[in-house]
Amino acid sequence: MSLRVAIAGVSGRMGRVLIDTVLASDCRLTVALDRPGSPMLGQDAGQALGVHTGVAIRSDFAEALRDADVLIDFTRPEGTLAHLAACRALGVNLIVGTTGFDDAGKAALHAAASDIGLVCAPNFSVGVNLSLKLLDMAARVLDTGYDIEIVEAHHRHKVDAPSGTALRMGEVVANALGRDLAQCAVYGREGVTGARDPSTIGFATVRGGDVVGDHTVMFMGEGERLEITHKASSRATFAQGALRAARWLQAQPAGYYDMQDVLGLR
Ligand code: NAD
Repeated sequence: MSLRVAIAGVSGRMGRVLIDTVLASDCRLTVALDRPGSPMLGQDAGQALGVHTGVAIRSDFAEALRDADVLIDFTRPEGTLAHLAACRALGVNLIVGTTGFDDAGKAALHAAASDIGLVCAPNFSVGVNLSLKLLDMAARVLDTGYDIEIVEAHHRHKVDAPSGTALRMGEVVANALGRDLAQCAVYGREGVTGARDPSTIGFATVRGGDVVGDHTVMFMGEGERLEITHKASSRATFAQGALRAARWLQAQPAGYYDMQDVLGLR
């Protein structure tokens, strides 16, 4: 039996690419969800792509998710957390691409992992997840005498900053250095800031145009600078990673996983 996939946020930028990716795969699109009030409710999920899927877009997720093995959710924190409760009640696995959760939201995701499988990643691209491994290695070698700054750029519609990926990169570097990101992060600078505190990790955010997602982590020392950069050129990379995670998750026990687990990079 092929994997029965539900997609949430199908009217969104990621939702459209996810539909395309699932339709081109050996998995079966069985549920297409969008927020209540979306003008796309009732339409065929493939309409925007010019294909007929026989799957109508719905908002009654608690009922609709009965027909799915896994939900791939790239929406907003409040949407994902509402879907989470239904997934938990129905035993449906969950792939969380949504970013911008507060601490209570993150705790709710972890708590659900006692009942269902979740893969949560601020970035589902294989290249970014490999770069997290490289960042861990770089931070351990460049642990003294290097100032660390993270610069990210995204399209003009992105609503959270810094990106979830930039924050994850910061966490990986901070963990490798034995620092707490909450204590050492500096988000933007203005005015008379004084000299740079070497224990900090700085973040800078660029927004504009149609940039899919660029991230650079700089390790700046005396006489040299190492930069680790990833540039996403298409949202298909995130959709393919999410579907890979969905397939992998079906063979795992309930639990909280990320792309490092999916890719065997632990
Ligand atoms: P978008 O604004 O284009 O689409 C959001 C979708 O979510 C829309 O279909 C909207 O109707 C739906 N939605 C909004 N609020 C909702 C709610 N309360 N309940 C249910 N559905 C709701 O956004 P996007 O660019 O597609 O990004 C969506 C999310 O995915 C963002 O959080 C973004 O940061 C994240 N993202 C993650 C990755 C990754 O690899 N993890 C990659 C790209 C984007």
